[in-house]
Amino acid sequence: MSRNYFIAGNWKMHKTRAEAAALAKELVAALKDGRHKYLVAPSFTALETVAAVVKGSNILLGAQNCAAEEEGAHTGEVSVLQLKDLGVQSVILGHSERRHLYKEDDGLVNRKVRLALKHGFDVILCVGELLEEREAGKAEAVCRRQTVEGLKGVSAADLQRVTIAYEPVWAIGTGKTATPEDADAIHAYIRKVIAEAFCPAAAENIVIQYGGSVKPDNAAALMAKENIDGALVGGASLKADAFVPIAKF
Ligand code: PEP
Repeated sequence: MSRNYFIAGNWKMHKTRAEAAALAKELVAALKDGRHKYLVAPSFTALETVAAVVKGSNILLGAQNCAAEEEGAHTGEVSVLQLKDLGVQSVILGHSERRHLYKEDDGLVNRKVRLALKHGFDVILCVGELLEEREAGKAEAVCRRQTVEGLKGVSAADLQRVTIAYEPVWAIGTGKTATPEDADAIHAYIRKVIAEAFCPAAAENIVIQYGGSVKPDNAAALMAKENIDGALVGGASLKADAFVPIAKF
């Protein structure tokens, strides 16, 4: 297996520029000998500040969203062209908070995925079911739909710049984590979906992160599973003393 572990921190709507710079500096120092792939995704307002701190380090810079259009009359939106200008390398798309709080549907997420890939970004595409969908036995169907629709029109070559993050919505910010076995089963299922939509080699190579209350004390058990290739970390990414042990599991 050639997949490398990929640990990403989603800072959500937290941190001023000074706070973001301080955390980024701690991470650059603590992870310089880290063996995995790393990324931090600050708010738009702190991207330029954090870009200067992580430059030349082994930590990639991600944005938490982008507009579906390149430019124009889209008040409040941020374009891929503006993100590129700031040195952003990767964009998190389809996060459950975007899907459920801001009503982003699969079609919109797909337009953003294709635009970000067209402009050379890496993409972390988030998928995951609500609690009621899991309880109704629909977890696989939801993850299939979000994966297939989110990647519609993406070429096999561009898929190499896509990471999937499986984030069961009921586990995000709740302290409830999917068991490693349950998470691994969905990861294996998503891999099967990728094999069908693209090819078996693409499925073997695609990195699938788990996200949902990942903490220092549960990271290693999750990462030990065959189909779990990393983590997308929210709450525990806001402090170096929680993120570093996850990143160095
Ligand atoms: C997330 O928002 O991507 C996430 C996984 O959050 P948390 O780690 O806080 O559950």
